[in-house]
Amino acid sequence: VTTDQLVREALERASASDLNALVSLNDHALEQAASVQKRVEAGEPLPLAGVPLVIKDNINLAGTRTTCGSRILETYVSPYTATAAQKLLDAGAVVIGKANMDEFAMGSSTESSAFGPTLNPWDRARVPGGSSGGSAVAVAANITSVALGSDTGGSVRQPAALTGVYGLKPTYGRVSRYGLVAYASSLDQIGPFARTAEDLALLMNVMAGPDPLDATSLSAPPQFRAGTPDDLRGLRVGVIRESLAGNTPGVEQALQGTIVALKDAGATVGEVSIPELKYAIAAYYLIAMPEASSNLARYDGMVYGQRVQGSDLLESMTLTREQGFGREVQRRIMIGTYALSSGYYDAYYSKAMKVRRLIADEFGAAFGQYDVLLTPTSPFPAFRRGEKTSDPLAMYAADVDTVAINLAGLPALSVPAGFETVDGVRLPVGVQFIAPALQDERLVALAGGLE
Ligand code: GLN
Repeated sequence: VTTDQLVREALERASASDLNALVSLNDHALEQAASVQKRVEAGEPLPLAGVPLVIKDNINLAGTRTTCGSRILETYVSPYTATAAQKLLDAGAVVIGKANMDEFAMGSSTESSAFGPTLNPWDRARVPGGSSGGSAVAVAANITSVALGSDTGGSVRQPAALTGVYGLKPTYGRVSRYGLVAYASSLDQIGPFARTAEDLALLMNVMAGPDPLDATSLSAPPQFRAGTPDDLRGLRVGVIRESLAGNTPGVEQALQGTIVALKDAGATVGEVSIPELKYAIAAYYLIAMPEASSNLARYDGMVYGQRVQGSDLLESMTLTREQGFGREVQRRIMIGTYALSSGYYDAYYSKAMKVRRLIADEFGAAFGQYDVLLTPTSPFPAFRRGEKTSDPLAMYAADVDTVAINLAGLPALSVPAGFETVDGVRLPVGVQFIAPALQDERLVALAGGLE
């Protein structure tokens, strides 16, 4: 098959799909496929020649819109391309479209997008998770075989679990954040979705590595491969005790099934406690919201996207932000600003930073005993659309298993682990493996071993 055919077929699948996974299609995809074809014919070795790719709409691609799922950026066209995406393009991939997402990546259901919710292909009345729900659905519904999302507190892993695909959140710094629109900079990472461990390895080998344009990027060269059952022999797996309570029966069963499969392959499985995890959600939101309030200050109608004209500068800025940002984004800017204000800083932000340190230290101690840690990715499978939209705290609680990983900067992978039948519908369930910093390779290897 030619690259043209691959890309054309992916574009057709995207147009035929009614799941609202994509916010826009790349008008230049076919031209780009043709130029990849020329490079192939010229003998250039391209590991991703003609691979159709979907990227989340907070990752910049030159000449296309980057909306972040927000009205405020509805007309914003990016003048440059994010490093992670550029590396994939250099390897021959072709972006066919930009994926729907919760506005500015704030949410766990892809319902807060200004461009409507994305539907879960397993049950259209349910959410695909979020905030990278569009990317997850692109892969789960076979529009493309791989996609990029961003994970600040679970936004790659949780939608991967709720749609039945792999989702990897790399070690903080493993993949360049240059060109990823900032939500909470100390937590954000770009990560891949895929249906096989081999595809994860392929993407990470191209995408990971140092970038002079991101000072927090790390120099470790990527050495990913999908493993075999041999990679599981002797592996020491610690199940986090705090993640065992509060799960639905299907999630519980998937976790137990994974433990059995690990033991059958010769891994040893124990239990480890990380008591500070009970503060993870509180600490996460008290760090993410302040960072967001600061990062989103730049959207004032002056430089980026839409401007609502007022009678003076201040009124223009106020109207732009009032009409451009949705409810959840406004709520977070308000709370974040409050938590950073003098008089409250010590009680909230500074306290949250201390909890963050404790959590990171406890993970460090757990890795003294275990090679990887194991939890469910989400305590429940896909929930109904609208079920949590009127209750922000219930939405935040969906992140109970994922946010601590970002606080600690660790790599974690959501692996499809079975199904839970709810009201006669089979819904996918995922489990999460966590590795020490820079041991991302271990996660992909063990995923291959479990396939
Ligand atoms: N649901 C979490 C939040 O709303 C995580 C989002 C993310 O990882 N981008 O902040």
